[in-house]
Amino acid sequence: MSKVLIIGGGIVGLSSAYYLQKKGYQVTVLDKGDITDNCSFGNAGMIVPSHFVPLAAPGMISQGIRWMFNSKSPFYVRPSVNGNLIKWGLKFVKHATAKHLANSAEPLRDLSLLSKKLYEDLAKEPGFEFELTNNGILAFYKTEKAGEEEAHLAARAIELGLDMAVLSAEQCKALQPDLKLDVLGAVHYRCDAHLYPAKLMNALLEFLTASGVKIIKNKEVTKIETSGNRITRVFAGIDVHEADQYVIATGSWSPAVAKMVDLNISLMPGKGYSFMEVEPTNRLTIPALLCEARVAITPMNGRIRYGGTMELDKINTRINMQRVKGIVESVPQYFPDLNPAIPNQNDIWYGFRPCSPDGLPYIGKTEKKQNLVIATGHGMMGLSLGPATGILVSELIAETTTSLNLDAFKVERK
Ligand SMILES: Cc1cc2nc3c(=O)[nH]c(=O)nc-3n(C[C@H](O)[C@H](O)[C@H](O)COP(=O)(O)OP(=O)(O)OC[C@H]3O[C@@H](n4cnc5c(N)ncnc54)[C@H](O)[C@@H]3O)c2cc1C
Repeated sequence: MSKVLIIGGGIVGLSSAYYLQKKGYQVTVLDKGDITDNCSFGNAGMIVPSHFVPLAAPGMISQGIRWMFNSKSPFYVRPSVNGNLIKWGLKFVKHATAKHLANSAEPLRDLSLLSKKLYEDLAKEPGFEFELTNNGILAFYKTEKAGEEEAHLAARAIELGLDMAVLSAEQCKALQPDLKLDVLGAVHYRCDAHLYPAKLMNALLEFLTASGVKIIKNKEVTKIETSGNRITRVFAGIDVHEADQYVIATGSWSPAVAKMVDLNISLMPGKGYSFMEVEPTNRLTIPALLCEARVAITPMNGRIRYGGTMELDKINTRINMQRVKGIVESVPQYFPDLNPAIPNQNDIWYGFRPCSPDGLPYIGKTEKKQNLVIATGHGMMGLSLGPATGILVSELIAETTTSLNLDAFKVERK
């Protein structure tokens, strides 16, 4: 039986393991952490076919610069002479065009819809109860400007065959009757869904372990040995691992791991925060996006998760309380009777979205190493795109026809 070693136990690595073991491969997953708290655990849990617009989109640069001067804003780039950030920024600017947006919409939509379907299938498997709920997402706006942008997005989404509806404030109230709303309107992304990420990740870990997948925790890959165009061995400190095929699915750490095989992957960690609050009355039944504030609110596990911000900086453990306050203060502006308290530092989760400069993931083989698949760069959509990426990884390894055309996601694209 052919052996596959997956480096990284986030949603992308575990989904790859899931589909590979189904195809009969002998799979090992290696992670530097204990797989209880990576970016795939504390995220907002939204499954978002609605997000066919990549981060690199027209208007993001001027908006981003305006946000830079507000300490509570949802977006921040630490100005530095970091070579990676400069190269990333130049690529981002190059891709923030209407043409790139038009070219990306269909590949992103198809990847998302495949993933959503796979989540629906997974939720029917025994042991996979992870609160998958098909209520859509309500993107609320308070200003005419955001309303126009949302209406434009909804029109394009409908052209792409996605189910969306523009709602008045009254129609919003009818959908969330138990909550006061102070909004101009919303777009109901009816094509979207949500789930509880920790339950999903733990169900996957349990299933994989029971199916014979070896999960090795707290072992950091420090060196990858190659011979010609093949990987021969992977070192995690003094431990040595050999396999026939290898997968790099190390999220925001992927540039450093890819460098070990002489590959350059342009990626910046986009740090975001989240925290949970008890909401005993379960008044919020549909996840919400607060458009102007860029905050996500999701009901899960009998509580509410609030999440947001995007700090592009080196990986670090600092918690910027100003930005957390920005999230807290935005909530009652849309929901006057939801008043989350400022959380204690210990109750604040943070994770690093692996952000590619053009907003598309990297999924594919490389020219340099024949027995390697790269699966990373999913940015704000990694949870959504996990299962589709996993099945594609398994097809690339098996060298069978892939479920989707992967040209848009080529690893060595410019
Ligand atoms: C606040 C916030 C909200 C979000 N909300 C959503 C949402 O609603 N919907 C959505 O789709 N996405 C969301 N995201 C994005 C999503 O969480 C990420 O895109 C996704 O989790 C990335 O998964 P991954 O498997 O690529 O990386 P990760 O989950 O980061 O996993 C990578 C793993 O690789 C391991 N690793 C790294 N280096 C090494 C090494 N050298 N050796 C061994 N192991 C290594 C790490 O320990 C880690 O466990 C959100 C993110 C944030 C921060």
